[in-house]
Order: sequence, then structure tokens, then C-alpha cells
Amino acid sequence: MLVLLDRDGVINEDREDFVKSPEELILIPKSLEAIARLNSHGHKLALVTNQSCIGRGIINDEQLAAIHGKLRDMLAKVSGRLDEIFIAPDAPWAATERRKPGPGMLIEAMRKFNIHSSDTVLIGDSERDIEAAKSADCHRILVQTGKGRKTLATGLKRHLMPVHVASDLDQAANFILEGRF
Ligand SMILES: [Mg+2]
Repeated sequence: MLVLLDRDGVINEDREDFVKSPEELILIPKSLEAIARLNSHGHKLALVTNQSCIGRGIINDEQLAAIHGKLRDMLAKVSGRLDEIFIAPDAPWAATERRKPGPGMLIEAMRKFNIHSSDTVLIGDSERDIEAAKSADCHRILVQTGKGRKTLATGLKRHLMPVHVASDLDQAANFILEGRF
């Protein structure tokens, strides 16, 4: 399958004031190992991340690259990897279809790997992740890390169903490895 991962709140702790440096990238327990497990079973993994901190002028491309460099280095230590990183740098007031809830990045990823939406799953913690996946016609898993609990408590819109709910990325990986999709 193609597994599309939101970053903040799924792999690393979400921060209200954005992850602005490698030091602020605090990993959620077992998230890197979950990625490595999916890699080892032949799944393709890509990050699809909104990073409005670029569009807002809070950090630049080089600083974001340093954050992702740290993520890749830490992943490599557990024999994990991301096959691609898709970034939507748009500020919310200048959002394109690439910024979630737009499906742009997801469609780009499915084209790049030539994998159909029926064989693609998105894992996210916010309603906009799930909206993007619904628009792109992918399977959807909501994790309860990051904003996930709040997202669930608010109640997901009916048209987004079915949404699988996992406690974290580790459990979401189990769903995929159990062949739930
Ligand atoms: Mg998130």
C-alpha cells in the first residue's frame, strides 16, 4: 500500500507555535519503529505535511530541511525511511489545493508512486487530514495522539466515514499489517 503520513501529532508532538528547529522535533513513542515496520513489509511511505510556518515567514526552506534531516537520521537508526516528503508551505490565507484539507499533495503522491486510491491510506490527527483523504478517495485512519483526541471528541462529520480510529501510529501500522484495507 501507499501510506501517507501527516507529521505533527502523528510522528512527532504537535506544537501550537510550530516545530521551528530540529530541537523542537519531539518524537511520539514507537512512531519511528512503526514506520520501519511498514517499510520492511514493502509498503511505500510518504509524508504529506502542511507547513504554514513557511508561508507565514516563521522559518525558511533550509530550516525545514534541517528538521526533516533530523527525522530521516533518527529513522535511519531504526532502519526506517520515508520514500518521499510532500510539503504544503501555503499560509492559511493563501491556501492552494495542496494545503490539507485540499487533496493536492495526496493526489501528487499517488501519481508519483502510481498507486491507486483504493490501495492508499492516510494517517492523521486532524479533521483536515481526514477531509483531504476523503476528497482523494483514500482510506483514513485517525490517531489519538496530537490533536486526535480533540478531533474525535468534536465528532467527525458524517460524510467522512468510515474512519478507522487508532491510539497511535504504532496501532495504525498494526491495522495496515493485519490487512484491514
Ligand atoms: Mg497533524
